Amino acid sequence: MSLLELENVTLKFGGVTAVNNLSMSVEEGEVFALVGPNGAGKSTVFNMISRFYRPFRGSIRFDGKDLLKQKPNQVSSQGIARTFQNIELFERATVLQNLLVGRHRHRKTMLLEEMLFIGRARAQERENRLAVEEVIDFLDLQAYRDQHIAGLPYGVRKVVELARALATKPRLLLLDEPASGLSVEETQDMRWWIEDIRRQMGITVLMVEHDMGLVGKVCDRVLALADGAELAQGTPAQVQAHPAVIEAYLGT
Ligand code: ADP
Ligand code: MG
Repeated sequence: MSLLELENVTLKFGGVTAVNNLSMSVEEGEVFALVGPNGAGKSTVFNMISRFYRPFRGSIRFDGKDLLKQKPNQVSSQGIARTFQNIELFERATVLQNLLVGRHRHRKTMLLEEMLFIGRARAQERENRLAVEEVIDFLDLQAYRDQHIAGLPYGVRKVVELARALATKPRLLLLDEPASGLSVEETQDMRWWIEDIRRQMGITVLMVEHDMGLVGKVCDRVLALADGAELAQGTPAQVQAHPAVIEAYLGT
């Protein structure tokens, strides 16, 4: 059984078919990339998996369960976390505070119960702290821990965005353009983080990325999308050499 399975998924926005009868599956433990020109539907696929949008048709299963039957705010507690193409952090809060807020969102359904059972809330708070400190150490963010997001360089914010998602301890991590806007060295670092996340944390990664150099190095499999539909699927080398993919890229 695949960890994530999309079957015949379609989503339209008015007259635009953003995703058109797409089927794909991601296996536990792999790093899988979605590639394709701008407007191909990549972020829309992420938005459906994270339940921001509901597909018009088709099914999405995570760990064998129908994800579309879960409430949108339950996706995180099911074990799915994501980063955003445009970083979404609280600018006036510190790195630590942003990661703790990410954990609280993760536990949203527990809050009332926590308020009623103070002892349990303390235990939860300790668990949140531990999870957050662990991620700060893992991603080498100690030096930035108590700094405000607004003062941090873009490359560091990208790592904090990654940390916020990781702190929820997901089984599946969705990365929307993890290397966009990064320098060559920062992209190289991002590559090592992604490899460590897979190897040391055992987390499955589904990413959208334009940097085919990075995709070729970290991904096991790639699916190329154009106009919301699959163009080609296979190893990075197979997909890059596929005539339909070459044509789609040259055409934009
Ligand atoms: P990508 O991430 O591959 O660049 P998107 O998934 O963002 O592409 O967009 C796919 C298509 O769906 C585009 O034509 C885009 O304009 C459209 N689209 C995406 N989100 C919305 C929305 N909320 N409302 C209307 N159209 C949208
Ligand atoms: Mg996008």
